[in-house]
Amino acid sequence: MAIRSEVLRAMLAAGASAEMLVAAVEADEKLAHVVVLDGRTIPVDVRDEVLARDGPVCRYCQRVTSTPQLDHVMPWSRGGRTDATNLVVSCKPCNTAKKNRTPEEWRGE
Ligand SMILES: [Zn+2]
Repeated sequence: MAIRSEVLRAMLAAGASAEMLVAAVEADEKLAHVVVLDGRTIPVDVRDEVLARDGPVCRYCQRVTSTPQLDHVMPWSRGGRTDATNLVVSCKPCNTAKKNRTPEEWRGE
């Protein structure tokens, strides 16, 4: 699964550095095999939509991540949907720390 060229073009247009583009390709390769914690795989078209929107940047700590995961903002175990409106790119440390909480619950801990 190769990253789609329009994703890279969009990142370039947004001023991404070469380092960011390499990170995006690497993140894409890893995200191609992403499995959420409940064992369900995320559809490729949904994954691509989230990556095209977020790039290889963790939505929670705003850092380029080398351990990209897809996180359900509203946890799947609590009824959150597996679609682009409820999924964000997250680094592994943030995803692990958030657990099955909403971002508001996590920040309020
Ligand atoms: Zn993070």
